[in-house]
Amino acid sequence: MRSSILIIYTGGTIGMKTDDATGALVPFDFSGIYDEFPSLKRLNVDIDVLTMSPVIDSSNVEPSNWAALAGLIRDNYARYDGFVVLHGTDTMSYTASALSFMLENLAKPVVFTGSQIPIGVLRTDGRENLITAIEIAGARIGDRPEVPEVSLYFQNRLFRANRTKKHSAEELSAFASHNYPALADVGVGIHYRYGAICRCDAGKTFSVNTAVSQDVAVVKIFPGMTEPVFRAMLSAEGVRGVVLETYGAGNAPTFGWFIGALEEAISRGVHVLNVTQCVSGSVNMDIYETGRRLQEAGVISGRDITTEAALAKMMCLLGRGCGTAEFVELMRHSVRGEMTEE
Ligand code: ASP
Repeated sequence: MRSSILIIYTGGTIGMKTDDATGALVPFDFSGIYDEFPSLKRLNVDIDVLTMSPVIDSSNVEPSNWAALAGLIRDNYARYDGFVVLHGTDTMSYTASALSFMLENLAKPVVFTGSQIPIGVLRTDGRENLITAIEIAGARIGDRPEVPEVSLYFQNRLFRANRTKKHSAEELSAFASHNYPALADVGVGIHYRYGAICRCDAGKTFSVNTAVSQDVAVVKIFPGMTEPVFRAMLSAEGVRGVVLETYGAGNAPTFGWFIGALEEAISRGVHVLNVTQCVSGSVNMDIYETGRRLQEAGVISGRDITTEAALAKMMCLLGRGCGTAEFVELMRHSVRGEMTEE
């Protein structure tokens, strides 16, 4: 049985090609995808292409673009077996994380990909990323999709999207998932890691919730940070949620002014989530006094969540108007496989 795939092109490096006449980089027209890559006809998939308007560099992507993308998937959900989202690499992990929280009871693949070198440049990594992403989006075991999750495919590895980080501006393997295994490794064949793929939502009704609040801040602590700077960040107008990037296993200074500023913010109703500045490993506020003080002040543990996923999750939950108890409960636990439960 053939699968039908919708490719949604949002912008980014993958969509550029060299103009034969001038040598300049110009946008690639994905609607001519079969002319450019005739070999795609050999895949067992039918492809439609939708180009977002306007096409943007992912540095300009805003929550309204996440919502538009989620809306497109909702509107086309019944007509396609899978979706491939072509996105700039710079903020791909943020968008893909946000989509994982906006799409509820997802039972079809949504595969994000992009490239470090434009698709129309000879040495591009985009061609392989695109073709394999399409193949994964269309792959099935019987009548069920192989990967009914929001995932991110890049350089031979398929990741759970909300576990990823862009970790290199140079390497072709630009993304990594430090705290969760790849969902598939690609070599001569595509080797799915079945134990890692979530199929929990199959059978429930798919829905989309695009509510988002931008009343959030990411605060990265650093040695020498002063009280006025820290207080200014915590009390920035409108802020209701803070992703606090701490050291190591979730440690922060125990200075009175630091803990005091946090306690004051929390008593004003600001939610503070502790995530680590390390690329791998987890927050554990029980190990050191420096972590325990945060816990006592009411800081929530983000465990091993990435900053990208933490921010997206916080924005979505605040957007839904969750009350404090529900918000804390949902932030503490995995809702889309974005953190490791003990
Ligand atoms: N600046 C580009 C973007 O994120 C980089 C890329 O696509 O790789 O849109």
